[in-house]
Amino acid sequence: ASWPTSGEIRVENLTARYSKCGPAVLHNLSFNIHTGERIGVVGRTGSGKSSLTLALLRCILTDGTVYFNGLATKEINLENLRSNITIIPQSPELLSGALRYNLDPFDEYDDATLNAALKASGLYALHTDPGVEGRLGLDTAIASNGSNISAGQRQIIALARAIVRSSKLLILDEATSAIDHETDAIIQNTLRTELGPDVTVLTIAHRLQTIMDADKIMVLDGGRITEFATPAEL
Ligand code: ATP
Ligand code: MG
Repeated sequence: ASWPTSGEIRVENLTARYSKCGPAVLHNLSFNIHTGERIGVVGRTGSGKSSLTLALLRCILTDGTVYFNGLATKEINLENLRSNITIIPQSPELLSGALRYNLDPFDEYDDATLNAALKASGLYALHTDPGVEGRLGLDTAIASNGSNISAGQRQIIALARAIVRSSKLLILDEATSAIDHETDAIIQNTLRTELGPDVTVLTIAHRLQTIMDADKIMVLDGGRITEFATPAEL
């Protein structure tokens, strides 16, 4: 089978900073996540949650080692790394053009696959915003920057893209500002029911409810892990 075969992550002494002379924003983190685990990440604003997602993808400067499915990410070329780990940021950027183009920018998948992902992600169930005609479908036009789509809905589209690519590791940085309950529920339901048992999911969550059924919860404070345990242990 082609790499990656699992969504296992091993992190050893990970320190990260945004610039060479800037301060460290993550301090010597070490932890393991088994394939298929559902991890909730919490911590106050500025605690390093988003920085951790960036460090895992080598988007910021890091010391230490991150292994993804047994390979040190330093040894994996960036394109390969980033096409196998999906990060859904707090405010995903969309490409202007049809929804189809956003799900499959390189025209690699057939309509059946794309439609299945639309359905699995809950996009079909969305109420449409003003400016979006009718139900969201593959041919729905996305305005530049996805300005006709809310942050939460943009995250659902990014989630659909992850389903299309069958990523083994998915990192969701929940939209903070005014994510409505409906959107949150759609996302949580998709994560619970539509991903394979071997898909590892890290969810940076702002609502306690979102992480209650996580396998483990990681608490960050000042760029350090202060807890990493099952919800029952916390
Ligand atoms: P939030 O809950 O508000 O999203 P967070 O836990 O995701 O917060 P981070 O964005 O990871 O927090 O920020 C951690 C630290 O990194 C903070 O001290 C922040 O100021 C710093 N930081 C974040 N982004 C940058 C950047 N682009 N350049 C320099 N420092 C940054
Ligand atoms: Mg953040």
